[in-house]
Amino acid sequence: MARCPECAGTMKFDYKTNRQVCKRCGLAVSRAELDRLWDEQRSSFRREDEERAKSQRRRDYLDWWLGKKEKDKRKK
Ligand SMILES: [Zn+2]
Repeated sequence: MARCPECAGTMKFDYKTNRQVCKRCGLAVSRAELDRLWDEQRSSFRREDEERAKSQRRRDYLDWWLGKKEKDKRKK
């Protein structure tokens, strides 16, 4: 069963229009369009993950840097 890339609702194949139609939001797309939308969805999720990982690394670095400074202060 196909899932709607917009609202994650269930999609039903409509033989009359040859499209997948979302039962929830009414989005109607062909099989190829649906695949393309999902690909876009997936790559935007990947980008978000990368952004999260990047900002986590920045935070880790900042913690390390601040910790180092703290240690330096204590030595003096
Ligand atoms: Zn939908």
